[in-house]
Amino acid sequence: MTSDEWVAGTMERLSRSTFRSSFTLNAHDAEYARCRGRTTIERHAYEMLTQRVGAAQPYKDGRQTPWHGHPVFTAQHATACCCRGCIERWHHIPRGRELSVQEIDCLSRLVMAWIDRDLARHPAVDTDGSGWALPAGQTTHSAGLSHCPAHHTRDDTGFIQGTLL
Ligand SMILES: [Zn+2]
Repeated sequence: MTSDEWVAGTMERLSRSTFRSSFTLNAHDAEYARCRGRTTIERHAYEMLTQRVGAAQPYKDGRQTPWHGHPVFTAQHATACCCRGCIERWHHIPRGRELSVQEIDCLSRLVMAWIDRDLARHPAVDTDGSGWALPAGQTTHSAGLSHCPAHHTRDDTGFIQGTLL
């Protein structure tokens, strides 16, 4: 099974869960994703999964993932990548050991597949079918946050100051 097949099969499995399929990005987090661009959000996904669920015993495991405040947080709940209990139950990776680079990579792809689909379902512009497209006149600010005023409190890794657990 390739990682693409694993992601597609897991997305299908998740869609049969009422709880997991109840999530959608709020307007603020969707705008943040489009404003920063896919490459940056993908980096955030990898870094956030590494830092928040990657350790053998993650800090505050089970309560470490807010419902929103960053698109990756919501995607983690929707894809059962929110804590090691959910990761064990849904993705069969045992608790109590560090995640491998390959596992974090797979979970990041899953998180990104969910964000791709959610943005495509609620596009900001009705053009090419890519949910990442920004309205005319707006550009992606992958290098900085100066044009994303609502997100000034974020640090470089996408975490929100004060809520980093
Ligand atoms: Zn969880």
